[in-house]
Amino acid sequence: MIPGNFEYHRPTSLGDAVGLLSTLGDDALLLAGGHSLIPMMKLRMALPEHLVDLQDLEALKLIDVNNGTVSLGAMVTQTELIASDNLHTACPILRETSLQIADPQVRNMGTIGGNVANGDPGNDMPAVMQILDASYTLVGPNGERQVAARDFYDAAYFTARADDEILTAITFAAPAAGHGSAYLKQKRKIGDYATAAAAVILEMSGGTCTAASIGLTNVHDTPLWAEEASGILVGSSLDHATVQQAVAAAKAITDPASDGRGPKEFRTHVAGVMVQRAIASARSRAQ
Ligand code: FAD
Repeated sequence: MIPGNFEYHRPTSLGDAVGLLSTLGDDALLLAGGHSLIPMMKLRMALPEHLVDLQDLEALKLIDVNNGTVSLGAMVTQTELIASDNLHTACPILRETSLQIADPQVRNMGTIGGNVANGDPGNDMPAVMQILDASYTLVGPNGERQVAARDFYDAAYFTARADDEILTAITFAAPAAGHGSAYLKQKRKIGDYATAAAAVILEMSGGTCTAASIGLTNVHDTPLWAEEASGILVGSSLDHATVQQAVAAAKAITDPASDGRGPKEFRTHVAGVMVQRAIASARSRAQ
């Protein structure tokens, strides 16, 4: 399929990009790696009259790990996330998750900003950002504001970002040293979006879980932070009964569509299995 006609803009500064978005209004869309947007344009599900390409905004391509704070520029690609040893040391779940996104060609172009701003419940990074309690920096004509990843997603493709704002960075506190994490994703084949996926970060001390955060991908029209399920794990030894209780609480907040990935009941079941396995894997990695 061939996309509709559009005018192409390639600003070289953030100010110019914001200015273009403000001037062009609803008729313009931002272009990052293009690996969600271009397929939508080819299907004519997106028909922008203008594309504002962010590729020349070098300031948005930085990975910064400093004093326990991680900052990722929106234009960092998934391949760059995988390659950064500093980032892997601080927060290994990002490499593990990125490696489960599509294939190398997609990861070479697809950006972290596009992945989290897109609003597609199938995107893998939003749930991970929710368990990390990350904050998104949005820059628009009225300046800069921060929105928590946990507050960003309203419905499929609807987010807290205004049309004239650019998501420039993602920031979070690096998880505590010795934490364990895991991203478990069940998919029909390599390169597919999740039937259901679970992200878990936890901390253990003397055999007791002292902190836990659980997230879910593609089992609702938004990513899910399973707050109640996370709380159930804290204070326990992660014994079988407690884990089952947390799995049940996580499943209770899912509401997946019945689609080509399976009926709703199956996808809910898979979500529970992913949560259980991700807890076990995170626990085995925690020190
Ligand atoms: P784009 O496609 O350029 O943009 C996506 C949307 O976000 C657009 O609406 C755009 O306007 C907006 N946007 C982009 N950047 C910003 C910004 N900085 N600020 C505000 N808005 C912005 N993803 C997964 O997570 N898991 C998968 O399993 C997966 N499988 C895939 C398989 C295939 C075959 C393909 C083609 C893609 C797949 N993807 C998957 C999607 C891929 O990860 C995309 O690259 C990613 O979702 C979007 O990033 P992008 O940089 O390509 O954004």
